Amino acid sequence: DTLINQIAAGEVVERPASVVKELVENALDAGARRVDIDLEEGGIRLIRIRDDGCGIAAEELPLALSRHATSKIASLDDLEAVATLGFRGEALPSIASISRFSLSSRRATDAHGAVLRVDGGKAAAVAPAAHAIGTTVEVRDLFYNVPARRKFLRAPRTELGHIEEWLRSLALARPRIDLRLAVDGKPARRYRAEADNPGARVAEALGPEFFGQSLRIEHSASGLHLHGWIGAPPYSRALGDQQYLYVNGRAVRDRHLGHAAKSAYKEVLFHGRQPAYVLFLELDPLRVDVNVHPAKHEVRFRDARLIYDFVLGALREALADSRA
Ligand code: ADP
Ligand code: MG
Repeated sequence: DTLINQIAAGEVVERPASVVKELVENALDAGARRVDIDLEEGGIRLIRIRDDGCGIAAEELPLALSRHATSKIASLDDLEAVATLGFRGEALPSIASISRFSLSSRRATDAHGAVLRVDGGKAAAVAPAAHAIGTTVEVRDLFYNVPARRKFLRAPRTELGHIEEWLRSLALARPRIDLRLAVDGKPARRYRAEADNPGARVAEALGPEFFGQSLRIEHSASGLHLHGWIGAPPYSRALGDQQYLYVNGRAVRDRHLGHAAKSAYKEVLFHGRQPAYVLFLELDPLRVDVNVHPAKHEVRFRDARLIYDFVLGALREALADSRA
């Protein structure tokens, strides 16, 4: 079983950032309003994710760590969603099979918390533990028992960079969640929960330069809705070429929509410049295929041409208006 989990880990876990992603997504699924991320040595030595979500009952801790056990499929619709997400219930057992792992939790209705420790896939018995309402997952010594994978890890600073970049991308999409990152025992990043001012989160994540120099995008047509910000004149080089695109709240990479943004820039004003943007495209989920591999961030649109023209049109219009 440990071996199967380690093989699955090859799919799920490429580097510390993949662990952080899976664990923080679990925290958000659990309804967390606040997530604390602690890292040591770029996550190689320690990743600790603590949330204030719904928690897990002591007797269900082993279940959370068994393969394909997920609490997230309640209906046939969910099952369909699973088909698009590609896999379910694999993250925790996979991560636990390649690390020194512990899962501690407490629900609001529990008198005290409980902890389950797993070392390289071998679980101990559930034990009582002090814990606030919510869940903490600790992942130490990633790949310590899989030397072939461990040797592909980069310097802590590089791994940390991947984590910070992923966190920034998440922070932009989830402005209502309070996100804190501590690195080697020191507070490193704080994204304050922004109830009604998503712009504040953009300023926090990408800097006041981006926010001060960007145009608000808000455009709807043909059942498509595009909103967000695009860098605009006076466009300083300091802005860089930060590009964040979300489809139905999910960070994606899409060459065609990237190209639409670039074309709008080129047509309207900035020859040869890479556009900077944070854009959210919302549409009927039936009009988009999420790639079967959840880590790939790719999507396929049913009516790609229409969507391309819609995005190009929305950005072109906003940029042209800003010139007028
Ligand atoms: P999945 O997220 O696909 O269900 P995981 O292996 O990531 O699979 O998690 C397994 C199960 O463990 C989840 O379905 C959920 O019931 C539980 N779980 C994991 N993390 C948390 C958390 N932070 N808070 C509450 N429950 C959690
Ligand atoms: Mg999960």
